[in-house]
Amino acid sequence: MKELSAREAWRAALGELQLQLPKATFETWLKQTEGIDYDERNFVVEVPTAFAIAMLERRMYQAIQKTVEKVTGQPLDIQFQVKAVGLGAAPPVESAGNASGANTAPTGEGAGDDVQVSEALLRELPAAAPAPAPTAALTQSFNRKYSFATFVAGPSNQLAFSAAQAVADAPGQRYNPLFLYSGVGLGKTHLLHAIGQACADKGRSVRFVSAEQFTNDFISAIRNGTTEEFRDRYRSVEVLLIDDVQFISGKDQTQEVFFHTFNDLHNAGHQIVLTSDRPPRAVALLADRLRSRFEWGLIADIQPPDLETRMAILSAKAEELGMPVGESVIELIAKRVQKNVRELEGSLNRVVAFAQLMNTPITLESTSRMLDDLTSDTARHSIDPERIIEEVSQQFKVSVGELLGKGRRKNLAQARQVAMYLLTSELEMSPTDVGRLLGDRDHSTVIHGAGKINGEINEDAQLRQNVLSIKEAIFT
Ligand code: ADP
Ligand code: MG
Repeated sequence: MKELSAREAWRAALGELQLQLPKATFETWLKQTEGIDYDERNFVVEVPTAFAIAMLERRMYQAIQKTVEKVTGQPLDIQFQVKAVGLGAAPPVESAGNASGANTAPTGEGAGDDVQVSEALLRELPAAAPAPAPTAALTQSFNRKYSFATFVAGPSNQLAFSAAQAVADAPGQRYNPLFLYSGVGLGKTHLLHAIGQACADKGRSVRFVSAEQFTNDFISAIRNGTTEEFRDRYRSVEVLLIDDVQFISGKDQTQEVFFHTFNDLHNAGHQIVLTSDRPPRAVALLADRLRSRFEWGLIADIQPPDLETRMAILSAKAEELGMPVGESVIELIAKRVQKNVRELEGSLNRVVAFAQLMNTPITLESTSRMLDDLTSDTARHSIDPERIIEEVSQQFKVSVGELLGKGRRKNLAQARQVAMYLLTSELEMSPTDVGRLLGDRDHSTVIHGAGKINGEINEDAQLRQNVLSIKEAIFT
């Protein structure tokens, strides 16, 4: 094997891990890591915070180790260390201040950002994990990479793209709210960052949160008796961006407070932008009055890009990577990876990283081979529904037969609802399919059951832990 730097090897490993791990996990815990050094025994990785190290070791160690071993071709232990402040090239993330809209905080102490971004995940941790640092105010950060300039428009996303630009040009004036929806990895978060950055650049006060962060922020405000501050924080902004709003499905209290926030902002002529994995009418367990507000403005969907757009996205990405990639290779990748821009990028990353690693040019043959590998890898790592059902039955100590049967014992009913929740949220199966799989139940039962768990998971630590253990078993 040719000599390869730790940095290159780690990048190749990240390319693979990105495809193996749930998106939120990858983005939160791995994206900002760097390969530093390695010898015959150890591979050293720098991570922004000690807390992130605990997460990586606890939840992903095996997956990471296996991937690194595969890339380097030698057995290695992975050692994580905290990134020294001021060193290491953090991505150009900019903080857009808090409620004041000031745009001053530097990115040097990325540690703080990281803890805040991961707040939602903190709540999923097993009880033994260290307590999260209390977050006084959420810091907004926009990823400069996710700008209008780097977004490749095409027929599949034109409406969403134009609407996002219109909103950024004149917040609160055209489409309010703007509601964007699509399947995963098609650019919703990208557009939300682009709007946020453009508005912050113009001196507007912007708040960007995932619906999950909003929920957690609300819950801790209740716990700490700081609901006044919570209100002010959200109602004082000129532009509120809420990502993945489907998360508030079944969370009645959060919906209530969100409803009032929405009204206050809207009445004041302030802009609200929402994203979701489905249109408002398809979000289960959403209060009617909130659903109807989501439909007030413009609803725009994003479809998977056509071949031409996929090729344009890959070309732009290759340029960014500073690696010459031929048209035919771009076309090959674009033809093989069709549904999801994130996977498209992941595949290109991997092809490029391996070429750099092996110090060889990128050819059609090597790319094709790698894509074959990748597809079988993805197939191996994609989870089948039976696997989830089995894990649920083990975790809740009930048999699969009972799970699919008619019994209504409390523990059994909850186990069944957890299966409904995981099958719909993790595998994105339709409620009808889930119902069929779980002993021929009605789709409305599935919507209700999944929504119930989605709501309870915030309140019930034991349940949260059970669900996390199941996810851990499934994803590693
Ligand atoms: P979503 O929020 O819809 O799941 P993201 O916004 O996270 O998807 O997009 C996934 C990745 O794909 C990001 O790296 C994003 O920059 C990229 N991406 C998606 N659509 C486009 C596009 N039209 N042009 C350029 N990059 C895109
Ligand atoms: Mg997103």
